[in-house]
Amino acid sequence: MNLLKLKSGATVEGDEIKAFISETKSAKYNYLMAGVHGDEVEGVYVLKELLEWLKENDEIMGPFIIIPILNIDGYRTGTRTNAHGVDLNRNLPAANWTEKIRKKRYNPGPTPLSEPENIFLDKLFQKYTPKFILSFHSWKPMLNFNGECREIAKFLEKHNSYPINNSIDGHPTPGSLGHYAVEKYKCPVLTFECPVLDDNLTLKNIWKDNEAGLKLLFQSHLIS
Ligand SMILES: [Zn+2]
Repeated sequence: MNLLKLKSGATVEGDEIKAFISETKSAKYNYLMAGVHGDEVEGVYVLKELLEWLKENDEIMGPFIIIPILNIDGYRTGTRTNAHGVDLNRNLPAANWTEKIRKKRYNPGPTPLSEPENIFLDKLFQKYTPKFILSFHSWKPMLNFNGECREIAKFLEKHNSYPINNSIDGHPTPGSLGHYAVEKYKCPVLTFECPVLDDNLTLKNIWKDNEAGLKLLFQSHLIS
């Protein structure tokens, strides 16, 4: 698959947010993204490996939009939030956005869509309508789906045995991509939560545990 570079975005601190599009054009696109939370290196790594494979595979055509790391400032500093201290996955203009979040790590920002990283993401959505979004995070292994993508979660679960959820118990996510993309674009979102690194788990292990399932998924009819 050949990828073309799109016009980049810029972070709060002026760093480049890279985005790529497949040569195959379509009315709607599959989005692959990672690094919404800057400290979640596991998800960034899995997408990086997946992307290398996609680029080498001539049978996979897309249509795709790929954002390897959205929160570049947070990735550089190893922080969850962006350089304004905002949780980008609580800052999107979903109906349930709320400023009444007390914990600093979930700071939703002063207003919905206040952050340049999310403004860039939403401009991409407006220009290249999303039909499915796969967003890689890391926390505890989990396949959390919003909208109609349970089948994709089940497909991946067969390979990685991560639990499937469609709402994180006791962990509401107002202003998240999962709410926003479903509401605004009727686009299902699979939030792919990788496990977090520990003494026995390396980035390569996490990729190995997911390599077969992800590769088969992208060769299946579920992603078209
Ligand atoms: Zn996350």
